[in-house]
Amino acid sequence: MKGFATKAIHGDMHTKDMHGSLRMPLYDSVAFEHESAKDIQQSFEGKKPSHSYSRISNPSVDDFEQRIRLLFDAFGVIAVSSGMAAIANVLLTLGKAGSNIVTSRFLFGNTFSLFEKTLKPWGLEARYIDMTDAQALDKSIDENTCAIFFEVITNPQLEVADVAKIAGIAEKYNIPVILDGTLTTPYIFKSQEFGVNIELISSTKYISGGATTVGGLIIDYGTFDWEYCPRLMEDAEKFGDFTLLLKLRREVYRNLGACLAPHNACMQTLGLETLSLRIDKSCVNALEIARTLEKHPKVNSVNYPGLRSSKYYETAKAQFNDKFGGILTFELNNRQECFKLIDSLNIIRRATNLNDNKTLILHPATTIFCEYSEAQKREMQVSDSMLRLSVGIEDVGDIIDDINQGLEKL
Ligand code: PLP
Repeated sequence: MKGFATKAIHGDMHTKDMHGSLRMPLYDSVAFEHESAKDIQQSFEGKKPSHSYSRISNPSVDDFEQRIRLLFDAFGVIAVSSGMAAIANVLLTLGKAGSNIVTSRFLFGNTFSLFEKTLKPWGLEARYIDMTDAQALDKSIDENTCAIFFEVITNPQLEVADVAKIAGIAEKYNIPVILDGTLTTPYIFKSQEFGVNIELISSTKYISGGATTVGGLIIDYGTFDWEYCPRLMEDAEKFGDFTLLLKLRREVYRNLGACLAPHNACMQTLGLETLSLRIDKSCVNALEIARTLEKHPKVNSVNYPGLRSSKYYETAKAQFNDKFGGILTFELNNRQECFKLIDSLNIIRRATNLNDNKTLILHPATTIFCEYSEAQKREMQVSDSMLRLSVGIEDVGDIIDDINQGLEKL
């Protein structure tokens, strides 16, 4: 059995380019020609594997998908144009008017907006609960629940759910567990082993190789029996384990048109080759920065699942292979101090993204949560004195020096 980095770099070793190119060429073409009318007919009928049109499939995208499938030990993978496209595609495939999704009260802002502003008017309800409360989860599930959806580490609260516990409850009711694993990827968290059925990832983050391109992944572990999904029941009789993937490929993914651009697939394939190196480094850096900030007299508190002071430390340790991700938050006295620190940094960038190669800082309350009321921010545990760091892969001493010189000015 080959290791993660070897598989990430070499793929299956069988797919060879006709010219011996060591990197998958960029197939930047919309349409693909067929030998005969019969050929194109068979391609359209799905009887002959081939590419016809790049919104539906493309060799560069397919290569990326197959590498992810192999690396993450998945049943099937569909690459899409963004993390949001991955979430929307899957939920629109599983849900229908009258069904509900049980989800966390802590969600990425655009996901919350997707639920409230886009899906709700079509009759798909989201039920927000405390995902660390097993009883609340149990109580909010009913016969119309089509999915349980949550993020493995929430942002910026950095709450870590006990995934096996959630999956155990879902299994009792035969409901698919859908995890947004953007902040961990299966390199940190092997969600399949904890009972997750479908993992969705914004490959814009860790996988893209340093914020090179926007992309998303739908990873089906092939562990859910789709006969239990009211929307897919009929298809499941015919297609079995392939039901979700086929429904996406032949309907929702194809019809929504949120395909991954071939160029982005090539960039993300390159990113994949260095994924483990970059994750290792950002996790080591984040832990060191968190420990340093915890001791700093001008910092009131630090939130990072890798710190023993985090109430999620034990859960994170049990799940995450001794890596705790690259995101941390810390509290100063007020917004003014936060702004002053942000403005005095020389290396750390003032930008919103996660898991870039560069360390990024953000004041969540006035940026990603600016549309929320003060009461909503309190509910979301986003305070005015909180800063979020997405820790990069620089030399950690330089990042710590940068923060220290900024804190000295407060
Ligand atoms: N999920 C999480 C946890 C995110 O943080 C983000 C973006 O920040 C997304 C999904 C959406 O990803 P994308 O920007 O690729 O659509």
